[in-house]
Amino acid sequence: MTTDLDAQWAVRWVRETARVVAENRALLIDLDRAIGDADHGENLDRGFSAVVAKLDSADVPSTPAAVLKQVAMTLMSTVGGAAGPLYGTAFLRAATSVGDADTIDAEAAAAMIRAARDGIVARGKAEVGDKTMVDAWTPASESAETAAQAGASAPDVLAAAANAAHAGAVATEPLIARKGRASYLGERSAGHQDPGAVSTALILQAAADAAGGAVA
Ligand code: ADP
Ligand code: MG
Repeated sequence: MTTDLDAQWAVRWVRETARVVAENRALLIDLDRAIGDADHGENLDRGFSAVVAKLDSADVPSTPAAVLKQVAMTLMSTVGGAAGPLYGTAFLRAATSVGDADTIDAEAAAAMIRAARDGIVARGKAEVGDKTMVDAWTPASESAETAAQAGASAPDVLAAAANAAHAGAVATEPLIARKGRASYLGERSAGHQDPGAVSTALILQAAADAAGGAVA
């Protein structure tokens, strides 16, 4: 049985993301209250709720890329702030990366995460260590590539990415922000995890969980 990722996986990913974002709405708001303006949880919850509403109102797109592109468009038009355009770009680049294929294998999954990460960097110009979501996406992408090269399945590539994103998010806590709203706080931004890095870990964990369901 193949463990490659199809359009149904992409739909499960989106629905699981909406669920965990809603579940962690208060946490993301609190993290953003500490070093930003307390809207990250609200922004993402609104965005992914809109994505799910869109999925519910139309036929399920037939390729993973079509699902990802729909996510990108909806996030760009509903999320706002810094995170809306950044996540919108990430999902758009991910869609372009997987192309019109019906399924995504391990190497394509790693390439998809790399493309999403590179899109965020191109758009926001943050580097590793700036205390942004890039600090979660970059190790996620590297771990995904390492796993794919070692022969892991696509679900295991996603699991590797999720684990690395989580570690990357935790590691933002002592950092001083150099990009985004949190950078206005200077040294006072240290001592809190970056909300966008934490939401990135949630989104990639949802991707892995959605793929785990397919294997079972
Ligand atoms: P805003 O900062 O406009 O209120 P959000 O609160 O929704 O937007 O998102 C904040 C998150 O966006 C931060 O935690 C950080 O991870 C991310 N972010 C902000 N600026 C950048 C950037 N230039 N590059 C990458 N990520 C960024
Ligand atoms: Mg904010």
